[in-house]
Amino acid sequence: AKETGRNNFQFFTPAMNDHAMERLRIENNLRSALEREEFFLHYQPQVDLATGRVLGMEVLIRWQHPVLGMVPPDRFIELAEEIGLIVPIGAWVLRTACRQCVAWQRAGLGQLRVAVNLSPLQFYQEDLVHTVKGVLAESGLAPHLLELELTESMMMNDIEHAVCILRDLKSIGVHLSIDDFGTGYSSLSYLKRFPIDLLKIDQSFVRDITIDPDDEAIVLSIISLAHSLRLKVIAEGVETEAQLAYLKRHGCDYMQGYYFSRPLPAQAFEQLLRQRRSL
Ligand code: C2E
Ligand code: CA
Ligand code: CA
Ligand code: CA
Repeated sequence: AKETGRNNFQFFTPAMNDHAMERLRIENNLRSALEREEFFLHYQPQVDLATGRVLGMEVLIRWQHPVLGMVPPDRFIELAEEIGLIVPIGAWVLRTACRQCVAWQRAGLGQLRVAVNLSPLQFYQEDLVHTVKGVLAESGLAPHLLELELTESMMMNDIEHAVCILRDLKSIGVHLSIDDFGTGYSSLSYLKRFPIDLLKIDQSFVRDITIDPDDEAIVLSIISLAHSLRLKVIAEGVETEAQLAYLKRHGCDYMQGYYFSRPLPAQAFEQLLRQRRSL
């Protein structure tokens, strides 16, 4: 029978469809992935459009399972959230990312900023601030070099509570950004109450920026909204020279995307940093 208790192993039943089977298979494997050290991180450079310099990187989790192969985050993050596993996984991501950032700093690769995605469940954990502080202390990373990526929907659930958490996080000195900006249920009047530093323009708007006047209008409004609230703005999913030129021309501050680099394993990212520094 299908028992859904937290630590109970689940069995397949003939009535389950392929989707449910697949989900169960992933869930059962996910429960042991952390201790089996099957996760690792990719790093995608974020570039300052005014100077062309790499200012930091977004950290993206990867799961390499011996049988399932490479499982993309879109197929396990939501599930990890539902079964509560995202909390220990997220803590591992945060710790590993901060340590890596300090290691690169000590290797002379510069004061890079590291951006980590937070899930809604992590955001509302009572000990979030404590966890973040602990990771900063343990890794030795300066707080202003850590950026936490949040989403609009995660904050609109309970605005008063969210504002408190954001203030607590800001008081440690970390940077806060809103990911996938424009895709969630956003309210401009609340935006000004959130002590955030950066808006990330979702890649769905960036994709057709040079051919679709509607996307163009949205991107231009986000840039101008961000700047009038004294926030920085980064475009994600930049894949072409034309998109890059457009964003630069219209005052977007930073960008990340395949045009500059795909997310890379640590070693390849380090190589990219070294090559650019010797240019
Ligand atoms: P996201 O935070 O919006 O991350 C951006 C996604 O776009 C990444 O997909 C990245 O690989 C991809 N991307 C980057 N540049 C381009 C581009 O130029 N074109 C296109 N088409 N895609 C680009 P990825 O790595 O598969 O991650 C998917 C989502 O999974 C992320 O979306 C994020 O929501 C979630 N995720 C990834 N890592 C973590 C993590 O450590 N914790 C949590 N909570 N969520 C994570
Ligand atoms: Ca993100
Ligand atoms: Ca995003
Ligand atoms: Ca996304």
